[in-house]
Amino acid sequence: MAMEIAKSLGKFSLGMGDRFAQQGRAQLAACLRAREAGVEVTPVWNKSHREHSIVGSVPAGVRREADAAVAALGWTRAYFVDADHIRLETVDAFLEASDFFTIDVADSIGRPPDEASLAAFCADAGDCGGGFGLTRESVRRIAARYLAAVQEAARIYRRIEAARGRGAFITEVSMDETDSPQTPDELLVILAALAREGVPVDTIAPKFTGRFNKGVDYVGDVAQFEREFESDIAAIRVAEERYGLPAGLKLSVHSGSDKFSLYPAIRRVLAKTGAGVHVKTAGTTWLEELIGLAEAGGAGLELAKEIYAGAFEHREELCAPYAAVIDIDPAKLPAPAAVASWDSQRFVAALRHDPACPGFNADLRQLLHVGYKIAAKMGGRYLALVRACEETVSRNVTANLFDRHIRPLWLD
Ligand SMILES: [Zn+2]
Repeated sequence: MAMEIAKSLGKFSLGMGDRFAQQGRAQLAACLRAREAGVEVTPVWNKSHREHSIVGSVPAGVRREADAAVAALGWTRAYFVDADHIRLETVDAFLEASDFFTIDVADSIGRPPDEASLAAFCADAGDCGGGFGLTRESVRRIAARYLAAVQEAARIYRRIEAARGRGAFITEVSMDETDSPQTPDELLVILAALAREGVPVDTIAPKFTGRFNKGVDYVGDVAQFEREFESDIAAIRVAEERYGLPAGLKLSVHSGSDKFSLYPAIRRVLAKTGAGVHVKTAGTTWLEELIGLAEAGGAGLELAKEIYAGAFEHREELCAPYAAVIDIDPAKLPAPAAVASWDSQRFVAALRHDPACPGFNADLRQLLHVGYKIAAKMGGRYLALVRACEETVSRNVTANLFDRHIRPLWLD
């Protein structure tokens, strides 16, 4: 008997990051357009502790933004506020405002579990049904690597459950911010262990093969990704039936925005298997704000250039927290003095993620992606111009989510 959740995430859901909490309506408008086009996409506003501390914002602000957008646009379906990548030491600040929790236990992968709990798990799990090439020996080897992480997830889950109540929130477990990808057999053992620890996981974010850099396309073997993605879904189906995990348990793809070369593969597998998916975008809405500012010209363009100059100057400090998820070639970054002479069109072409456009500069885009701290420091001056340029900003925010993400993933 599967555990039930009070509110359903639905088959398709989209994690939307919004550094400055200004684009709630513009993002939700993309989900409305999806509905009009015939597909239900549940909006999830996600923001991590890392982002909050860099921007100086609090989880309650994300809740206010989401509620206000929903009220303004008359959204009647489910929506969620995701405490993204939280740990035991950061979860408390999110307990009131969030109803979706991404429990990040990547740091506990590889930590040896205590012998007694490893033995107890192995005695129960056996060969986990023997699919995916699993044997008692390989289950034990996988459990030795992941059981401590699962137990950490259970500790965090119980803290959330005590505060929010059972079944009143979505539970995601993430293991993506680590070095080596998890294979489907590992995923099945991890899910078996989560079920045994009483974690009713709704979405799981493994690390997939290849590179998922922030705000740019996938780098890796798409065919291999497609085989792995399909096998992961098969592992999830087995776990759902065998271990009574919530019906509709699905994969969550982190840094899922802008992975244009993967979307056809994801779409094929979803069509073939009937599975759902959660795609978490990587805070690229902030880049659409910059594009909107640049497109508006005048003071907007000048501010976008000023932010680039600031990001260029502080690039080492800005890149450090994101080192594992960006690849910037400093030699390909234009000098701020050169950018100073650019017109709107040239700035927008460099920043907007259109790989076919000769003016596109992936290095500049990645630097600006992590450069939001520069805008955060500008405070009211930045926000005032974003609001003044609302027309061009919101048009870009909505079009980015709908045309470049929702359509290739779920509609075209
Ligand atoms: Zn992640």
